[in-house]
Amino acid sequence: MIIPIKTIDGIRADFPILNEKVYGKSWVYFDNAASGQKPKAVIQAITEYYEHTHSNVHRGVHYMSQRATDKFEHARKRVAQFLNAAETHEIIWTTGATEGINLVAATYGRKFLKAGDEILISGMEHHANIVPWQMLCEEKGCILKVIPMLDNGTLDMQAFDSLLSEKTRFVSVAYVSNALGTINPVKEIIQKAHALRIPVLLDGAQASCHFLVDVQELDCDFYVFSGHKVFGPTGIGVLYGKSELLDIMPPYKGGGEMIETVTFEKTTYAGLPFKFEAGTPDIANAVGLGAGIDYLEEIGWDFIQKQEDLLFQYAMEEIKKLKEVILYGTAPEKVSVISFLIDGVHPYDVGTILDKMGIAVRTGHHCTQPLMARLGIPGTVRASFAFYNTKEEIDRLIEGLKKAIKMLR
Ligand code: PLP
Repeated sequence: MIIPIKTIDGIRADFPILNEKVYGKSWVYFDNAASGQKPKAVIQAITEYYEHTHSNVHRGVHYMSQRATDKFEHARKRVAQFLNAAETHEIIWTTGATEGINLVAATYGRKFLKAGDEILISGMEHHANIVPWQMLCEEKGCILKVIPMLDNGTLDMQAFDSLLSEKTRFVSVAYVSNALGTINPVKEIIQKAHALRIPVLLDGAQASCHFLVDVQELDCDFYVFSGHKVFGPTGIGVLYGKSELLDIMPPYKGGGEMIETVTFEKTTYAGLPFKFEAGTPDIANAVGLGAGIDYLEEIGWDFIQKQEDLLFQYAMEEIKKLKEVILYGTAPEKVSVISFLIDGVHPYDVGTILDKMGIAVRTGHHCTQPLMARLGIPGTVRASFAFYNTKEEIDRLIEGLKKAIKMLR
């Protein structure tokens, strides 16, 4: 069970993996932007589901099928509350942020965009928010436009103003950059796009793990995130879409669950959300994601943000003392992600030394090759913090960096 007192020790005890040792040392996990760790509450919810509830959903009149359906649909309701969606049926289960973006590109994009239409993304997108739009452009003859990035890792909003035009038919941007941690001014982007009646998709893969997102307040048309980044299971994610848009979009995949009637002559489709959920869904992981959201709310977003802020400020203070370190992405609005290089040293070598000291960071292009090209570097070292990390772990990182500087420079 969750320890109700919000001490870091109590919170860390909720995450069994944080007790692991690597190379005989207690493990420091600073790769949270790649995936969050799982509290017992999530692990237990999945186990409990398989041990006491599993049956296929929606189709069975039998007791256990109805119990599974109740749990599965309860999880959808929890996600709707989490995002403050107006309707539960605006929550579509996906395998993750990547599938959510592909779904919108392949359905809304194929149906409503035509040759010459412009799709606007930003220069700091993850490949997941670039490639699906490029594939659509290849197929339909649309044109991909890119909001450039300023040197400090913020979007060039003057350039955005001039790129947004009557030709723009869709805007898809990251709420938060995974490589740099920048929080983008998405409200302004949405307001300006809506003034021209252009729909906006927000890639929330790096937002929903750091702060609460209100899709109605933002007024975004689509929002995607992945369960595993919000301390839930892998293999499950969410697409939120406004009903009026989801209603007019064609289905994504065909199969069971997404139909109303089937004859060999014609199939009619189910209503929302099932129209977009062909086949047996990932029931257990949906239930796990619901439990993850419960857990985060129990910890409290105030606590989560304060702890991350404290860690980020401390890490920045300490890392800035190392004159060999070059920081990338120094936007005023950031989440707890630090991207950097040791001058003259390949990020992979830094990552390897840190790993041997039991510290997990990410190195490389972080699936943002165009962003790295803009910065003129092959990649960075990225340390990303979660609310269960500690100042002592940051001390270990700094100690590791000092060692790397000594050995590699
Ligand atoms: N968008 C951003 C900003 C991300 O950081 C990621 C993953 O790192 C994705 C999309 C893709 O997420 P997933 O691989 O869980 O689908």
